[in-house]
Amino acid sequence: MTIPTEPIGSIPRPAELIGALSEFAAGRLGQAELDAVTERALADTLTRFEHTGSPVVTDGEQTKSSFATYPLDGATSLGSDGAVIPFADGHSRQLPVLTGGPFRYASFAEKYFQEAGRHTALPVKQAVIAPSALSLLYPSDGLADYPREQFIADLVDQSEADIRRCLDAGAASVQLDFTEGRLSLKLDPSRGLLRSFVDLNNQVLDRFSAQERERIGVHTCPGGDQDSTHSLDVDYAELLPDLFGLHAGRFYLQLASEPDRRRVLQIIREHAPAGAQVFVGVIDPIDPRVETPEEVRDRVLEAAEFIPADRLGTCDDCGFSPFADDTSTSRDTAFAKIAARVEGTALARAVLGV
Ligand SMILES: [Zn+2]
Repeated sequence: MTIPTEPIGSIPRPAELIGALSEFAAGRLGQAELDAVTERALADTLTRFEHTGSPVVTDGEQTKSSFATYPLDGATSLGSDGAVIPFADGHSRQLPVLTGGPFRYASFAEKYFQEAGRHTALPVKQAVIAPSALSLLYPSDGLADYPREQFIADLVDQSEADIRRCLDAGAASVQLDFTEGRLSLKLDPSRGLLRSFVDLNNQVLDRFSAQERERIGVHTCPGGDQDSTHSLDVDYAELLPDLFGLHAGRFYLQLASEPDRRRVLQIIREHAPAGAQVFVGVIDPIDPRVETPEEVRDRVLEAAEFIPADRLGTCDDCGFSPFADDTSTSRDTAFAKIAARVEGTALARAVLGV
């Protein structure tokens, strides 16, 4: 089958799970009770994913605290006042800050992959956080007994292990979430920060063979939280040439919500590495309206004018709730949009004869 189609990762959590997570955090719910709620949410998510016809599924990130912070679940040596991510609607998210070394992941993404696999026979994709995002945990004024160079060396080791464990466990693909790429251009229009992010991520990617990298992808987007973005106003043209310098075999690119898709597709055609698979976003998770399969088909056909069909794939622009408590999109809407993506991609395949 050509023109593969994949989700990005997150599905809105059921109200029961969000409630149970906050009760557990407050010490009012036991581990066994939380586990039972989690199990129900996972089973329902995988069942509904299968009903969309999606050839590749995820665990919907039902038990991830967020796309970026899961490695810190259970970690110590963290303070609360780290880097702030401001969104266009005025709300913000704040990362923790490291207060001491050595830096180690307290949780690895492989556990989510394994849990999903107990609920489905379909291929499962696993998203991991890009090391460049976690590099923001290191305090700007340094740590006395833990120099930044040592932190970066530890981070590269840990990120490699996070990816490798998913690959070795049999993940259909492993996707590095790199939402801070586009955001970095707001903080540093000279692209210096972006290039340092690309270099850091390549330090990790270069530890994998070319064959392994065929299953490793990078996701870029302007952020998606509470139906708002953090960097949609940053010109994609400023990001894409450097983004395609990442040594990944796949790119999962937000595209549906771009005001001028053809201009972006032109840049993709000029700069995407020759051997890479390019998944373009044909669903906008922030738009509450569910796209029709015909709309999706037309977006795929438009992309196929610029990207050869044997290198083209489709995806959603972003996850549907990268942060666990985001309920701005309903589960029904998320799954309806995924079903439209799957059906619309199949319609495009029929037109293209591939
Ligand atoms: Zn995203």
